[in-house]
Amino acid sequence: MRVLGFGSNLLISDNGVKGAVIKLDTEQFARTEFEETTLTAWAGAELAKLVLTCVQKGMSGLEALTGIPGSVGGSVKMNAGGNFGDIGAVVEKVTLMDNTGGVFEKSKPELIFDYRRTNIMAPFILNAQMQLSQGDPEQIMRSVKEIWIYKKNNQPLNTKNSGCIFKNPRGLSAGAMIDRAGLKGLQVGGAKVSEKHANFIVAQKGCTSKDVSRLIDAVKQRVKEHFDIELELEIEIWE
Ligand SMILES: Cc1cc2nc3c(=O)[nH]c(=O)nc-3n(C[C@H](O)[C@H](O)[C@H](O)COP(=O)(O)OP(=O)(O)OC[C@H]3O[C@@H](n4cnc5c(N)ncnc54)[C@H](O)[C@@H]3O)c2cc1C
Repeated sequence: MRVLGFGSNLLISDNGVKGAVIKLDTEQFARTEFEETTLTAWAGAELAKLVLTCVQKGMSGLEALTGIPGSVGGSVKMNAGGNFGDIGAVVEKVTLMDNTGGVFEKSKPELIFDYRRTNIMAPFILNAQMQLSQGDPEQIMRSVKEIWIYKKNNQPLNTKNSGCIFKNPRGLSAGAMIDRAGLKGLQVGGAKVSEKHANFIVAQKGCTSKDVSRLIDAVKQRVKEHFDIELELEIEIWE
């Protein structure tokens, strides 16, 4: 059994997934509640909308997540973020559910966020409580715009992709290594290493999941040959 958010960080096999896939997408799971500077967001809420709601309300804390597609559940599970910060910095508490329907909470410091991972093992994240701070809406909007422009200039945003394919090895940039290995533009079937950001794979017309997997393997092998470093996947492959 797997729990699906918005699928922004997934490569799903051409043959589908062996097992049940559950998505928390009723209206109740898209709720967001503000109580002063505390925000409780349910797993199915859309991160991008939440960033904008926070701007309107003059709440600071989520602007670092500008331009990251996904649901609150998926973003907490992945500790989504980047150069500007990650969601784990503001999450104080999560409500979780186990396979038998048992609901329980996990708070910091027991709740730990690391680079693109958390120590949440329960299969369902139901909601997350975040501690924001009051800020100047204009200043928050300026930060959102700056990050948005940065992403627009550096990522192939108007293409079909699943964000960064590989995690950055400690202190290194996976994209820069792929670029230095001369792999920008490398293509397998309909899958192509982006010319704009080498850690992105763009799915062109007719692209299959198999094409992307084979391109991933080719990139990994060439980077290993060039730098003797094993790149680790940031995306998840479901088959
Ligand atoms: C154009 C683009 C840019 C991106 N940029 C970034 C970036 O800058 N930084 C970054 O970190 N990521 C980035 N990503 C990846 C992706 O947006 C994030 O990982 C996002 O947080 C995934 O959310 P999702 O809802 O789509 O999760 P999914 O992809 O659906 O799932 C991701 C993981 O979370 C689990 N999950 C989802 N919902 C729940 C739940 N309710 N309970 C328990 N587990 C759950 C899934 O089982 C899976 O393991 C980018 C992706 C794209 C397409």
